[in-house]
Amino acid sequence: MGSSFKLLTVRGIDIRLHITFPFILLWAAFVYGQMGGMSGALFGVVAISLLFVLVTLHELGHSFAALHYGVPVRRIVLLPIGGMAQLEQMPEKPIQEFVVALAGPAVNVILALIMGGIALGFGLPLVNPLTNTTLSFLSIFSYLLLYNVILALFNMLPAFPMDGGRVLRALLAMVTSYERATAVAVNVGRVMAVLLAFYSLRSGAVFTLFIAMFIFFAGTQELAMVKWRQQVRRSGHGYTVRQVFSSQVGVLGPYDSLRQALREQMRGWQSDFPVAEEDRYIGFVTESGLVRAANLYGPDALIYAAMSPDVRPVSPQTDLLDVQRQMARLKIGALPVVEYGRLLGMITYRQIQEFIHTAATWPNNDAPRVVGAS
Ligand SMILES: [Zn+2]
Repeated sequence: MGSSFKLLTVRGIDIRLHITFPFILLWAAFVYGQMGGMSGALFGVVAISLLFVLVTLHELGHSFAALHYGVPVRRIVLLPIGGMAQLEQMPEKPIQEFVVALAGPAVNVILALIMGGIALGFGLPLVNPLTNTTLSFLSIFSYLLLYNVILALFNMLPAFPMDGGRVLRALLAMVTSYERATAVAVNVGRVMAVLLAFYSLRSGAVFTLFIAMFIFFAGTQELAMVKWRQQVRRSGHGYTVRQVFSSQVGVLGPYDSLRQALREQMRGWQSDFPVAEEDRYIGFVTESGLVRAANLYGPDALIYAAMSPDVRPVSPQTDLLDVQRQMARLKIGALPVVEYGRLLGMITYRQIQEFIHTAATWPNNDAPRVVGAS
């Protein structure tokens, strides 16, 4: 995503701001400025900025739950219409998706309870933040308290792929097939999207119109992907390593030191490496294996020390499903591709994901898996 820039990193998750983001601050300054002059414009900018802090905390709720289940989180992107935590994949176990989807709104519920408790405890004279838009501690506090409640409620609408829709799919998937559960959740989501679009047009709310369109199309896209994945799974084969793997990979020699491997890794192109002499396959070094070996034996040890004994190379004819299964079992992101003892290249989890994405019928191929727009 070249159209965003990094704000900060939390537990290895990049939090990025989309380049269109400043527009919402300008919009806020303009709209609130019309209501309350200079002080109103300032209120708008401060309130919206802090609103996106709430959105970020919400997305971190999803992200930490995903990390808990071992699902890597690529990044959180803040867009004018909300935030997105981009997970490497959505956990398919219903109970896990249930928890991941609920973790975002739960953050807002907890924050609302804490803020409500503070307001009650200190007897804060809260104001109506929809009409009182002069910049003050109380107006901002009231605004954020209200928006925590709104964020929690709005995201819990059963409008797949928003959080409430994901909760619905997870619950349905506990009693029926994943594909059927997705289809029902997506259709409920489409109805919600159309209702939301009507409401937006009647009330002139541009942002909810965008969200309605997002719900409609992202739901349709995810349904296409689930169907396609099920199809691949049912057919069992048809897609093999040959169609996906890359022969342009960095290879380590058996007499390389761990230091050399770490230096290659630092350059960032690749984190796992096949080890070969000429083109004879010798072994495989995973990212975590390399770090572990370097800690144990020091950086001058030979690469042998870091090779993973459990990794079985795959052949060009190996079924993609078997590849994914081995990756999942060993918790690794790449496997060496070998034929008759000769190293041909490497296949990565990322490549498989991209292949599945590209092969899915929906034309918008680089859309991320979305956990919820707040
Ligand atoms: Zn969410």
